[in-house]
Amino acid sequence: MTTDTTTERRCDAVVVGAGFAGLYMLHRLRGLGLSARVFEAGGGVGGTWYWNRYPGARCDVESMEYSYQFSDELQQEWRWSERYSPQSEILAYLNHVADRFDLRPDIQFDTRVDEAHYDEATARWAVRTSDGARWSARFVVMATGCLSSTNMPDIKGRNSFGGGMYHTGKWPHEGVDFAGKRVAVIGTGSSAIQSIPLIAEEASQLFVFQRTPNFSVPAANRPLTDDEIGRVKSRYGELRRIAATMGFGFNTRSGETSALEVSEEERLAEYEERWKMGGLPFLGAYNDLILDQRANDTAADFVRAKIQEIVRDPAVAEKLTPRSILGCKRLCADSGYYETFNRPDVALVDVNESPIEEITPTGLRAGGIDYEVDAIVFATGFDAMTGALLAVDIRGKGGLSLRKKWEAGPRTYLGVATAGFPNLFMITGPGSPSVLTNMVPSIEQHVNWISDCLTYMAGRESRRIEANVDAEDAWVSHVNEVASASLYPGCNSWYLGANVPGKPRVFMPYLGFPEYVVKADEVARNGYEGFSLER
Ligand code: FAD
Ligand code: NAP
Repeated sequence: MTTDTTTERRCDAVVVGAGFAGLYMLHRLRGLGLSARVFEAGGGVGGTWYWNRYPGARCDVESMEYSYQFSDELQQEWRWSERYSPQSEILAYLNHVADRFDLRPDIQFDTRVDEAHYDEATARWAVRTSDGARWSARFVVMATGCLSSTNMPDIKGRNSFGGGMYHTGKWPHEGVDFAGKRVAVIGTGSSAIQSIPLIAEEASQLFVFQRTPNFSVPAANRPLTDDEIGRVKSRYGELRRIAATMGFGFNTRSGETSALEVSEEERLAEYEERWKMGGLPFLGAYNDLILDQRANDTAADFVRAKIQEIVRDPAVAEKLTPRSILGCKRLCADSGYYETFNRPDVALVDVNESPIEEITPTGLRAGGIDYEVDAIVFATGFDAMTGALLAVDIRGKGGLSLRKKWEAGPRTYLGVATAGFPNLFMITGPGSPSVLTNMVPSIEQHVNWISDCLTYMAGRESRRIEANVDAEDAWVSHVNEVASASLYPGCNSWYLGANVPGKPRVFMPYLGFPEYVVKADEVARNGYEGFSLER
């Protein structure tokens, strides 16, 4: 099919991205009687779960919670097979959602939005897509994902490598056969920690290049039984409401006391129980683990001792042991990660001692040693939260570009809008709880909020909404203030942009899902306080 690049096509809303956020946004826009067009760079729906097909990819928030709640029929009819379901099943679920709500007719795949320029005279956005088409829309909703723009380190000689090169966030659909191959994995974040045990099983030799060791707890993944699924489904609504009162928006089985208020014996027993139970609720053992350094030390020391216990070679164990704050970078949940380093065919290379000097046609040179490999896996993460937004040439009032406005770091009001860019919404944008939560409820909360806002505008015949600068300034200060009262700013995490060279260091997500929801609801109740609406 050829694209008509001369005619401008019109719709009420352009939505960019067809992951969890874009799909639900489209469903709601249709429900409001608005015409919408979704553009998706990938060849199918799913977003994160379309792109991240690396071995071992699965969620780390339990599937029965990491799923939509907007339709009770949907949550009742879908059956998750595992406590943390694999990528293929989450992708199948999102395809099911697209079919069940007949979303595909309004989604254009393999098409990137390159440009969105606001025209003040008409109060419409002019959108240009990679197929050369031009669209005019009253609203633009960026559902581009917090973790969708891959971070590929610019290592000297990268293009000279003769073997296979893969990024976990852009994994080939046909899979990769590592059988009998020598493989290098760069990075030890969540993606690496999930994939390394499985790659090690296949490869003849695996070299793991580690810059910073990460804390990981066992996922304790397992199949779900009909009984436990039935128990959740019989009170799904109630469980969802309880989860929404939790700081991270999911059930972390939050402890109500300080780690420092209990005896060491009691504390160790609690950590041991949570270690066995598995998963991110480890961080919920006490209410101050991410707020108080001394409390954090108690949990961090527990995990450090576990690493030393599991990994047989003391020198390797020491290198794998993080000396940073537990949970400051996202806590990882693994299936046999530390155990993998007991294999004779797995070697850990600490790039602090042996910096990666270059990629050669036959492998990597680090610390003067040549590591000959057949494949290199970049598990090097993402230009998180702002990468995908700034990849689009977005221009607001007076031709102001978003890239220019955010030069020193993102500035938003509630993480959903930014001053100077009327009728532009972001789903889980910087300044919203987003990546510090179970993202599906955070996405739904944003989509619902935006939908209510559009309904309000229609009722008042407003054609334009824009965040006010003073409300935005106050919100940015508040986001920073809340973060500063926690331990989060204390390490080089991607929450701070520290993983991407040259990126401004700003703590991007908002800490505290329930508090955020109260504030967002209050803003709406007060007639969209902090926004200007115009007819
Ligand atoms: P995405 O799923 O990232 O979708 C955004 C889509 O927008 C992408 O498909 C992209 O191609 C498209 N896009 C971007 N820019 C453009 C453009 N200019 N033009 C056209 N299309 C564009 N969160 C959790 O809460 N729990 C988990 O267990 C969890 N596990 C994760 C595991 C992995 C491996 C990763 C990478 C992330 C994980 N996350 C998890 C975070 C995850 O990203 C979110 O939970 C959620 O899937 C985000 O959905 P989204 O629709 O907002 O964005
Ligand atoms: P990540 O957490 O940012 O990890 C990237 C890793 O690559 C880090 O170890 C980083 O080291 C390393 N790295 C980056 N650039 C490097 C370089 N130039 N040289 C050497 N090492 C380099 O990315 P991710 O593992 O893809 O995870 C990103 C986020 O996605 C997670 O935090 C989580 O939110 C989500 N996710 C979740 C799951 C899950 O369990 N469900 C799985 C995957 C991803 P430094 O630490 O030193 O920067």
